[in-house]
Amino acid sequence: MAQLDELYREVILDHYRNPRRRGTIDGDHIHAEGNNPSCGDEFYLDVVIDDGVVTDAAMQGQGCSISQASGSMMMDAIVGTPVDEVREISRKFKIMMTIEEGEDPIDHDRPGSVLGDLEALQGVRKFPVRIKCADLAWTTLEDALNTADEMSSAS
Ligand code: ZN
Repeated sequence: MAQLDELYREVILDHYRNPRRRGTIDGDHIHAEGNNPSCGDEFYLDVVIDDGVVTDAAMQGQGCSISQASGSMMMDAIVGTPVDEVREISRKFKIMMTIEEGEDPIDHDRPGSVLGDLEALQGVRKFPVRIKCADLAWTTLEDALNTADEMSSAS
């Protein structure tokens, strides 16, 4: 297990140091913001949803390595992915992190096969106060998806 912990730490640090899709989107997009006062983390998200698919996304933010790495991993997971699937990934992530109830979605014999790099965050479960750090990007994403739903039902 010690080696797996080490590997996970490397994945988290890599995303923290080299965040994917950092920035903003110039064209039409949905913006959402979230913060986690217990740690001081902030997360800003721009997403473009076209015909039920997340076609582009950009993030900004500051805070601990867990919050920012989780956001960066989320970028990799959602761009090019249908919204329905994005919600399913979010649900699996929340079950993995014990935020929501459900049957363990992770195949522990094949690390990374279900949620990719995101599975590196499961070590955070051992530190309950940090679970909110990992969840911040996903809560922000849900806000953005709900805004998209409201916009499409209003038009
Ligand atoms: Zn944090």
